[in-house]
Amino acid sequence: MLADRRRFVPATDTVLNSPQLREPLIRLGRPLVRSVVRASQERVRGGTVDPDALLEDVLGHLPAHASTLHAVINATGVILHTNLGRAPLSAAARDALVAATGYVDVEFDLASGTRAARGRGVLAALRAALPDAGDVLVVNNGAAALLLAVTTLAQGAEVVWSRGEMVEIGDGFRLPDLVASAGARIREVGTTNRTVRQDYAAALGPSSGCILKVHPSNFTIDGFTASVPVTDLAGLGVPLLVDIGSGLLAPDALLPGEPDVTTMLRDGADIVTASGDKLLGGPQAGIVAGRANLIARLRRHPMARALRVDKLTLAALEATLTGPQNPTTAGLHADASWLRGRVEAIVSRLGGEAQTVPCDGAVGGGSAPGIALPGWAVSLPEEYADRLRAGDPAVVGRVDHGRCLLDLRCVPADCDATLLAAVLACT
Ligand SMILES: *Cc1c(COP(=O)(O)O)cnc(C)c1O
Repeated sequence: MLADRRRFVPATDTVLNSPQLREPLIRLGRPLVRSVVRASQERVRGGTVDPDALLEDVLGHLPAHASTLHAVINATGVILHTNLGRAPLSAAARDALVAATGYVDVEFDLASGTRAARGRGVLAALRAALPDAGDVLVVNNGAAALLLAVTTLAQGAEVVWSRGEMVEIGDGFRLPDLVASAGARIREVGTTNRTVRQDYAAALGPSSGCILKVHPSNFTIDGFTASVPVTDLAGLGVPLLVDIGSGLLAPDALLPGEPDVTTMLRDGADIVTASGDKLLGGPQAGIVAGRANLIARLRRHPMARALRVDKLTLAALEATLTGPQNPTTAGLHADASWLRGRVEAIVSRLGGEAQTVPCDGAVGGGSAPGIALPGWAVSLPEEYADRLRAGDPAVVGRVDHGRCLLDLRCVPADCDATLLAAVLACT
């Protein structure tokens, strides 16, 4: 019987020549389609697919695009979910990114026909958004921004840094290692829980390259603690470098503990570094803002060339800065009663074991730990979690106390019908 089946598996080339695969072959390329055909042939050999249904099986398994990244509906309620790609781009940023995929005038002045400065559009948008900055720079990510700043200001010199701010940012990457890899010596000051201004002052000397202040973005310590505000570290005679991580450009009343670039500059920071894909809500990028003379030194450092961003990032970041509200900001400020109404509409269509439950969302991405964002979720039996993840589109919820919670905070409102269909497909 098995031998018979094998004999009836259609040949790869025969399948590839089917008229139904002509369009997918053009769109996805032959190697990818062939690998899907081979997987279907395996299923026929294994007896899970009928030989007559092979082409149908192939068509059912063709990916939407030639990348193994799957689109995900984020129903976790965590806005900046590192495992799910942090900030989702706004429609404006997506459009700008797609428009930049072909030939573009990224380093070309169409009026004169001569070379032009790379990134001039995004830098102008960033300067407009940060009027307190003498100048700005964009690099590949927040870590690159910090690396470039430390390398430029303190290679072969000392970085004066509080023991309470030596952070691991995730996946085993630790900022002290990054600073050491820049060829700077770390001059630790204070203790884990308490550092005072005098600790910095006593450590400063001819070998100081900069003072580094890092926002401990992914943990909090309370109790007998002290740290020195940026205002008290300004004007000590060495550049004051502040890594805020989150990328907030201005204060947000919802996140009172979260530092922002504008306030740090006003408080006296000489250089501020931040991420583009955290609370700024843009593409992966590193934002550097500060004194014009220091930014000029960073821009001219050879390492800057190795850390530069591509045209797609430039386009998406500019549109994030100049465009409408992005999904990160929208998710952060989503109104709880509006979320409840959407959840109730879905639950009423599902009936059965679905319930409307209160559910706290979170900022995530190592930002604003401990801040709960009150909202609502569709509550389903726990076994839905696995089935929803396996669907297309994949839906990632949160498993809590034996229930699968679908928090709508980070689900675009025009995806509610898709989400409902995904749940119905699991029942
Ligand atoms: C996230 C973060 C970084 C790293 O930024 P990436 O954009 O992820 O490279 C550095 N410092 C702090 C304080 C952070 O929160």
